Amino acid sequence: MPAPYAGLLERYHDWLDLPAYTRPVTLLEGNTPLIPMPRLAEELGGGFELYVKYEGLNPSGSFKDRGMTAAISEALGRGVRAVICASTGNTAASAAAYAARAGLRAIVLIPQGKVALGKLAGALAYGAEVIQIEGSFDDALALVVEISQKYPIALVNSLNPYRLEGQKTAAFEICDTLGSAPDWLCLPVGNAGNITAYWMGFRQYHVRRGSGLPRLLGVQAAGAAPLVLGHPVEKPETVATAIRIGRPARGEQALAAAEESGGRIIAVSDDEILTMQRRLAAHGVWVEPASAAGLAGLAHEIAAGRFNPRGQRIVAICTGHGLKDPDIVARWSTPPRTLPASLQALTDALLREAA
Ligand SMILES: *Cc1c(COP(=O)(O)O)cnc(C)c1O
Repeated sequence: MPAPYAGLLERYHDWLDLPAYTRPVTLLEGNTPLIPMPRLAEELGGGFELYVKYEGLNPSGSFKDRGMTAAISEALGRGVRAVICASTGNTAASAAAYAARAGLRAIVLIPQGKVALGKLAGALAYGAEVIQIEGSFDDALALVVEISQKYPIALVNSLNPYRLEGQKTAAFEICDTLGSAPDWLCLPVGNAGNITAYWMGFRQYHVRRGSGLPRLLGVQAAGAAPLVLGHPVEKPETVATAIRIGRPARGEQALAAAEESGGRIIAVSDDEILTMQRRLAAHGVWVEPASAAGLAGLAHEIAAGRFNPRGQRIVAICTGHGLKDPDIVARWSTPPRTLPASLQALTDALLREAA
C-alpha cells in the first residue's frame, strides 16, 4: 500500500526551501486534478491538447492553500501567535483556515464591498478577524506590510517567500502527471505571486528532472492590467475580483518570468472572462471569474491569429472554485421558472420546450 497523502510539505519535502524549525500545518491541500478538455479544445479550433488544473478543489477553494500551508507552518514554527494579510478574498479564506488549523489568530484586511460572498463567508466561518478597509486591495496591502514590520505578526501575503515555495508545487504536480512540462501554461495574473511561483517550480523541476519548460501566458483583466499598460492602475475595476489589483507586489518578477519563458502577459475584457466562465461550466468545470481569465486569454490570442495552438500541449490554471462567487452567475444564466405543483403544468412546460 502506498503511504496515505499527507499534504504538500511532506510530499515535496526535498524540493521546498523552508527553515528547519517549520512545524507542518496541513489540510491535505494540493494533489488537484488535471482535467483533459478535448471538446473545449475542439471549440477553440482543435488540433491541440488542453487540460485544466482545477485548483478550486483545494481545501478552502483556491490555490492559495498551497502557499498558506508553507507560510503558516513557518510562522507556527517561528513561535508567532498571529498572522495578517490583505486580500481580495481567497487569501483571507485560506489564511483563516490554516490559522484555525494551527491555533493562531488570523487578521485579514479586505477592500470594502469588493469581496465576493463565498470568500468573505469562508474567512468569517474559519474565525478570522475580518476588517474592511475604506480603500483598495493595494491600500490594504500597504497597511499590513507596515504593521507586520512593527509588531510580531506574520505577514502571509505572497510577499512572504514561503508562500511561493508552497505555490510552486503546482508546477511539480503538472510535470508529474504529464511526464514533462506542457508547451504553454495559461493563468490569471493579479498580485503576480502565482505566475512567479510557477516559473520557480518549472525551472527547479527542469534542473533536477529535465522536464522542459513551458511558455507562460499570463492574463490580466483589461480594467486591472498594470503589467500590460506598464504603469500602476489607481482604480482597478473588473468582475474578476481575485485579480482586481492595480499595483502587483511581484509585477517585475512576473514580467521577467513571462519574457524568460518566451511567453507574454496580455489583457482580456470582463465579457471575455464571463463568456469563458460560462463555457467552462458548460463542460462541467465551474470556476470563479478570475479563474477563467487564463483560458479567455488563450481564446483571445487564437481568435486574433497571434497564437497557433496546433500540436501544442496546453495547461490552463483554474485558480478558484465557482462557489466562491455565486452571485456572478446571475449575469449569464436563466433564473429558474416557477410552476404550480401539478403534473399537467410540468408536462406542458417541458413539452413546449422540446417542441
Ligand atoms: C489570488 C488569485 C489569483 C491571482 O493570483 P496572484 O498570485 O495574485 O497573481 C487568481 N485567481 C484566484 C481565484 C485567486 O484567488
